[in-house]
Amino acid sequence: MSAPDILIIGAGIVGAACAAECARGGLRVLVLDRGPIGGGTTAAGMGHIVVMDDSEPQFALTHCSRTLWHELRPQLPPDVEFDGCGTLWVAADAEEMSEVHRKHRFYNDRGVRAEALDSAGLKAAEPNLRPGLAGGLLVPDDAVIYPPSAAAFLLHQAIAAGAELRTDVEVRGLLPEGAARLADGSQISAGRIVNAAGPWSPSLTPGLPVRQRKGHLVITDRYPGFVRHQLIELGYLKSAHAVASDSVAFNIQPRQTGQMLIGSSRQFDADGTEVNQPILDRMLSRAIEYLPGIGKLSALRTWTGHRAATPDKLPLIGPSVVSDRLWLATGHEGLGITTSLGTGRLLADLLLGRATTIPAAPYAPARFAKGAPSHD
Ligand SMILES: Cc1cc2nc3c(=O)[nH]c(=O)nc-3n(C[C@H](O)[C@H](O)[C@H](O)COP(=O)(O)OP(=O)(O)OC[C@H]3O[C@@H](n4cnc5c(N)ncnc54)[C@H](O)[C@@H]3O)c2cc1C
Repeated sequence: MSAPDILIIGAGIVGAACAAECARGGLRVLVLDRGPIGGGTTAAGMGHIVVMDDSEPQFALTHCSRTLWHELRPQLPPDVEFDGCGTLWVAADAEEMSEVHRKHRFYNDRGVRAEALDSAGLKAAEPNLRPGLAGGLLVPDDAVIYPPSAAAFLLHQAIAAGAELRTDVEVRGLLPEGAARLADGSQISAGRIVNAAGPWSPSLTPGLPVRQRKGHLVITDRYPGFVRHQLIELGYLKSAHAVASDSVAFNIQPRQTGQMLIGSSRQFDADGTEVNQPILDRMLSRAIEYLPGIGKLSALRTWTGHRAATPDKLPLIGPSVVSDRLWLATGHEGLGITTSLGTGRLLADLLLGRATTIPAAPYAPARFAKGAPSHD
């Protein structure tokens, strides 16, 4: 390919979704990754497709993205394992029940289906939860996918629309005039370069307000039906918002194989990939508090991954402040599987000068140009 219109660094799910949208929009796209497709955070994540309500922009991006996943669903191959199991937010006590009602109103006001369950309704929906929980909120249109296969599918869509993918190519630096310097010393020029390198994006765009936030996951052996929905304690929100300390929360996902993925932890300043036993113990104890029977089941594997966290919990999508030739699609923290499709659509809308599906300003990297919110 002669100089592409768009050079995307990163073949994770975000780079893949951007490539698919840009190629479909008629742009000549080249994607580079130093590893395989979806081998970064995309391989480490849980694959929960979820509408969130921390802020209006977070809602807009997650909702738009979930809609795009549902539109794509008929085309998804079986290995993407799309499962419309829904989310069940679990309330332990009256205080968390008031959060159920607040969340319920928020979703209802914005046309998102949700159903508040009392204690008996929760028990009927998930018999293995411990007795005495206060209730929950069922969001039936949330779903689960297998992220590496979804990234591969999106890249194959991009390739079918004319894009090119090169793996095992390491990028060492990005030049403001619109060129990437490769590890072999060569350079590739492009109309625009998109840094979609996830938690490694700051190494290519120095000064980017993205920090790595480590997470642990465990996968069990096969126990079909042990849980039926993605279950998350409402205390999860406190955990996701806690920036000053390590946190864990009960978050479990049924897989089509009958296995369960158990999460989740969050740690800043924990760079390595090694498993931290005390964090793992806390995470599993939390799961056992909610699902006492799970302590008797077998776990097969434990691993870690790093989320790309921004100070305001929104991704960076659009031109960087360095140069309008260098764009960003990064900083998706724990929602990049969900929001990959909305990110790809928004990025392509901006690059092609189309009206955007959702307002672009909340995700614009320029918001950090001065007076930037900090991580603390
Ligand atoms: C424990 C955990 C659970 C999660 N659960 C969920 C969930 O349930 N739902 C959800 O929506 N999200 C979840 N996430 C978040 C989600 O996994 C990420 O937001 C998403 O995978 C980010 O995708 P990405 O394409 O931006 O980054 P990545 O998948 O990390 O892709 C970046 C790519 O860039 C490449 N790269 C980096 N540097 C270079 C370079 N210099 N040269 C060439 N290539 C380079 C890497 O090899 C990599 O393939 C979770 C994350 C974790 C850690």
